Amino acid sequence: MGLKGKVAIITGSTSGIGLGIAHALAAEGASIVINGFGDPDDIKAIRQDLASRYGVEVRYSAANMMEAGQISAMVADAKAELGGVDILVNNAGIQFTAEIQDFPAQRWDDIIAVNLSSAFHAMSAAIPLMKQAGWGRIINIASAHGLVASAQKAAYVAAKHGIVGLTKVAGIELANHGITCNAICPGWVLTPLVQKQIVARAEREGKQEAQVRTELLAEKQPMHDFSTPEQIGALSVFLCSEAAKTITGTPLSIDGGWTAA
Ligand code: NAD
Repeated sequence: MGLKGKVAIITGSTSGIGLGIAHALAAEGASIVINGFGDPDDIKAIRQDLASRYGVEVRYSAANMMEAGQISAMVADAKAELGGVDILVNNAGIQFTAEIQDFPAQRWDDIIAVNLSSAFHAMSAAIPLMKQAGWGRIINIASAHGLVASAQKAAYVAAKHGIVGLTKVAGIELANHGITCNAICPGWVLTPLVQKQIVARAEREGKQEAQVRTELLAEKQPMHDFSTPEQIGALSVFLCSEAAKTITGTPLSIDGGWTAA
């Protein structure tokens, strides 16, 4: 229970990696603000599950990560209702694939807003609270695509490279305030975001989903295994620990060797 008394906001935590991180931080005793879209009954069930399993406070913010005003209100509400924001995990993300000349401008704007600008807005609102407390942990969920590129992912790759840059700036600015900022760069994680890509490719290429899953892994990762939301949650807990106090401003890969190859 190393995070008892801490308050964590995890954006995009109604699903996938964000939900895995919410479980891992709650298991360590942190109060949790979950955020993201979804069916109200499903969101209620997630809140109840986290609260009853780990005995922690769990709030839900419906803030849309495309709206700066809603993002700063989410941070202000956490301060008002839970007493502060000690841990901020910028995780919300969306994807769209097309070659640059066919990439709709609106899709570009949306991906940059959710995958990059939302982290800036949340950090800008939460950093004064962390400075006041003299302690903070900011974890930006980037991607292997924050370090290397793939075709058809212009907006995603640009946003993820951007978030690695933002992480470095924050690491420098906050170095002597007791606050660290790091980026986690996962390879393939089997979540709804990736499942959509698998289904689309299986339809396009007339293949079974299982075959496409195997091909996706083999094309990018020397290790033919998906990482899991639980593993990314465990890495997040480590980044919040005293042992990680001097790790800051850096991208950490959890990618089955994707960026080593
Ligand atoms: P997911 O689709 O399972 O979850 C995305 C979450 O973001 C959901 O909770 C969704 O409701 C929320 N969200 C989307 N748009 C939002 C908005 N406008 N406002 C508020 N919430 C919004 O996806 P995931 O795979 O768990 O992805 C989480 C993060 O991990 C993303 O930043 C993604 O780029 C990154 N990532 C994923 C993988 C992977 O293989 N799955 C790999 C590397 C990085």
